[in-house]
Amino acid sequence: MAEKKQTKEKKKVSLKKETEERVPLEKETEEKKETKKEVCEDRDCPIHGKLKARGRIFEGIVTRKFPKRIAIEFERSVYIRKYERFLKNKTRIHARLPKCMEDDINIGDLIQVQECRPLSKIIHHVVIKKIKGGGK
Ligand SMILES: [Zn+2]
Repeated sequence: MAEKKQTKEKKKVSLKKETEERVPLEKETEEKKETKKEVCEDRDCPIHGKLKARGRIFEGIVTRKFPKRIAIEFERSVYIRKYERFLKNKTRIHARLPKCMEDDINIGDLIQVQECRPLSKIIHHVVIKKIKGGGK
């Protein structure tokens, strides 16, 4: 009796394995297709490309948007000794906008930007991430 039970259990296990194997394989192939479409081919992307982001990090609000490039602005205060007061100053930085973030980032968003190698005369920063969306 004991032997018969064992054989039955074995059969059940083998059946289960077959069904389990078939289902996840189909899912994996579907996921692979989806990821292939989303992969960004931008060479100057800090996540998918070869561009290395290093150096100082700044946070600012996007003021202008161009193809492959955005301009951010942020305020900083400078102390003036003669008047013992702070002066508000605005800094504007042009940053490379990778292809994978093109749709995600719009004017008015608060984003983070990091220094990289000079990509052009005015661009030496890359967009790293979006911190907060804009009002509209
Ligand atoms: Zn990318």
